[in-house]
Amino acid sequence: MLLDGYGRKVDYLRVSVTERCNFRCQYCMPEKPFSWVPKENLLSYEDLFKFIKVSIDEGITKVRITGGEPLLREGLEHFVKMIYDYKNDIDLALTTNAYLLEQCAQKLKDAGLKRINVSLDSLKPDVAAKIAQKDVLAKILAGIAKADEVGLKVKINCVPMQGVNDDELVDILEFCKEKGYPVRFIEFMENQHAHSGAKGYNSDEIQAIIRKKYNFTKLERTGSSPSQDYKTEEGYVFGVIEPHKDDFCATCNRIRLTASGVLIPCLYFEDAQSIKDAIQANDIDKAAAILKDVLANKPEKNKWNDEEGSETSARAFYETGG
Ligand code: SAM
Ligand code: SF4
Repeated sequence: MLLDGYGRKVDYLRVSVTERCNFRCQYCMPEKPFSWVPKENLLSYEDLFKFIKVSIDEGITKVRITGGEPLLREGLEHFVKMIYDYKNDIDLALTTNAYLLEQCAQKLKDAGLKRINVSLDSLKPDVAAKIAQKDVLAKILAGIAKADEVGLKVKINCVPMQGVNDDELVDILEFCKEKGYPVRFIEFMENQHAHSGAKGYNSDEIQAIIRKKYNFTKLERTGSSPSQDYKTEEGYVFGVIEPHKDDFCATCNRIRLTASGVLIPCLYFEDAQSIKDAIQANDIDKAAAILKDVLANKPEKNKWNDEEGSETSARAFYETGG
């Protein structure tokens, strides 16, 4: 079992396979063009898998593949299969913007993927295009439908942004309710890479918007899910991810590996260690030692709940995988 320095059990590894993306979401990517990490600096699937094996052997039970946009990396289904074949009872999930999902969903399911989280920030083509900086909605919806059809469990993520999609939260909730997908509204986490002027909502504000149409109650938190769930009178359960709340980090069970082999203990901070050299030298003991050292130094809390005026996180979501 893996424990961090505060005694929290860590059993969830998020693995980014690329920082590249075919969207430029306002809350995630800079307005100005920038350069990607050169492809040769990325770990191969084989090397990422070597570290995943170390992590599973040490106590990781849930692996989520993310990015950037993970479906941009060729042969992702082979990577999924490597993980599935090593331990088929791993909770194996993927987070995607779904632009390329329609053509990949069946292959991913056949390879052993169990669950998929899709970012859906708007049901209006023009608003979705404004958020992603590209005409994306039809492909996202086709991708979600295909994933559902092939039997992947679908969850929807939505980041409410002021003046952008805040008039659609109820519509998105109703779309998900009708389709039987859980939706999670994510508080915008301020960071230096998002568009300047991007403003989100905190959980109380998100709830107030939904309460205009639906009565709901707060559910008891179970396990270490980052989502605080709420249940409408009709029985539909939706979640809000509340990193600005004081107790959000108390049950954090996550650690993140970037596509270039950097192990990140907290989404907010820049502290991290590379496992690249150890993995490429096949030094499994060293990789396991780095994993434990990173966990021993995992911060107690993020700083998103700090008073106005505190520094903004320098971590890029497209690099850490969210
Ligand atoms: N490209 C994929 C996607 O968009 O689902 C996977 C990577 S993305 C970085 C993972 C998650 O991070 C998405 O659900 C996205 O909405 C979320 N995210 C990105 N930037 C964020 C921010 N500034 N605040 C809150 N959530 C953010
Ligand atoms: Fe790309 Fe996902 Fe970031 Fe949007 S949130 S720019 S889809 S990595």
